[in-house]
Amino acid sequence: MNIRAVRGTKDIFNDDAIKYNYITEIAKRIFENFNYNRIITPIFEETALFKRGIGEGTDIVEKEMYTFLDKGERSITLRPEGTASVVRAYLEHKIYGNEEITKWYYYGPMFRYERPQAGRYREFNQLGVEVLGSKNPKIDAEVIYMGYKLLEKIGISDLRVEINSVGGKETRLKYRKDLLKYLKDKKENLCNDCQTRYEKNPLRVLDCKVEKCKEIVKKAPILTEYLSEKEKKHYEEVKRLLNIYNIPFSENPKLVRGLDYYSNIVFEVITEKLGAQGTVLAGGRYDGLISTMGGKDTPAVGFAAGIERIMLLMNEKKTKKNRIGIVWLGEESSDYALLLANELRVNNFDVYMEYEKKSLRAQMKKIDKINAKYAIIVGEEEVKENKLVVKNLKTGEQIKIKRDTICEYMKGEINEI
Ligand code: ATP
Ligand code: MG
Repeated sequence: MNIRAVRGTKDIFNDDAIKYNYITEIAKRIFENFNYNRIITPIFEETALFKRGIGEGTDIVEKEMYTFLDKGERSITLRPEGTASVVRAYLEHKIYGNEEITKWYYYGPMFRYERPQAGRYREFNQLGVEVLGSKNPKIDAEVIYMGYKLLEKIGISDLRVEINSVGGKETRLKYRKDLLKYLKDKKENLCNDCQTRYEKNPLRVLDCKVEKCKEIVKKAPILTEYLSEKEKKHYEEVKRLLNIYNIPFSENPKLVRGLDYYSNIVFEVITEKLGAQGTVLAGGRYDGLISTMGGKDTPAVGFAAGIERIMLLMNEKKTKKNRIGIVWLGEESSDYALLLANELRVNNFDVYMEYEKKSLRAQMKKIDKINAKYAIIVGEEEVKENKLVVKNLKTGEQIKIKRDTICEYMKGEINEI
């Protein structure tokens, strides 16, 4: 069989799967600590949802969607992002009727037809949060804080948080007019993409990565100078709170997001290490989206992070802290070791043990290879005495303890993540 995974898709296994789990475990813990609940939405939706939610004229809707007709002739799209589905669910289940503020997190696969390269795939995974129902700047700051902490806790350094306010609809309309005026006689010098953006979504010219566009944009009118008093106040408050949270950030007045629905606060967490794929986490406030989707005017804010990009930044191999290897020697210790392994497993340790009888050397080699932190050795003598030899593989220290104290002992030695 020479069928391979489809271009832009990949298998995640072994070390990468450990990383994937590690990231989602830490994310889950932080989100749950902040009182967010998980939402699991369908992988595919009616195409109209994304067209309306993400907006015609965006890269995603224009060229990146996996859209097809199902056997019932319905137009279906594999979800390219999470927010549109979350809003649909919020409205469909009338969540707004039951609670003042809704805080949700999600993670799972997304699909975009893009040119595959490092950190950019056609099927990739995102984790994200969405808060619906409040305009309070405390929430903007909380969301940015969680995103930053998450990456920090995973151990990623050299991150930069950039923040901007793009104001509300009116502010953007005013700004858009002036920006178009400014760009008008420079249009020919913009890159091809930006010439299209000029017509469809001119604000996106601001964050074009092409050198000649960057040069042109340098002298463009500044978006934050168009903010109303109220919008300014909101922005100032979010920055004040980020300082209280001790999150290092810089203001980037040219930061605009690719999606139509953002308003006021937008932010990105960026690394220099992934080239053009440098944005690891991105989000903002989207106060206009829910009414666009047919709901009552409801403010909202959220972010999404690319799990594969986080994985690429985790250069250290992640190992399971609670992994124990059991070595058994001789037929007599086989059943004894089996029961020992099960007891440890029930107590939440991850236990490795050979099925076949092998030499001490061969077993130790394997245990070392899977990065276990401890080896427990069960030989004939230990069975007779009802004792176990526990070896700390990092320090090489070895002690003999009573069989029935093993779980307690290991719990003392291994702190869970
Ligand atoms: P980019 O500018 O890199 O295309 P984007 O603005 O399209 O990103 P969002 O829609 O905001 O990205 O998605 C949030 C995050 O999801 C990104 O910051 C990135 O980490 C990740 N991401 C987006 N597209 C891909 C992809 N094709 N492959 C892997 N990760 C992706
Ligand atoms: Mg993109």
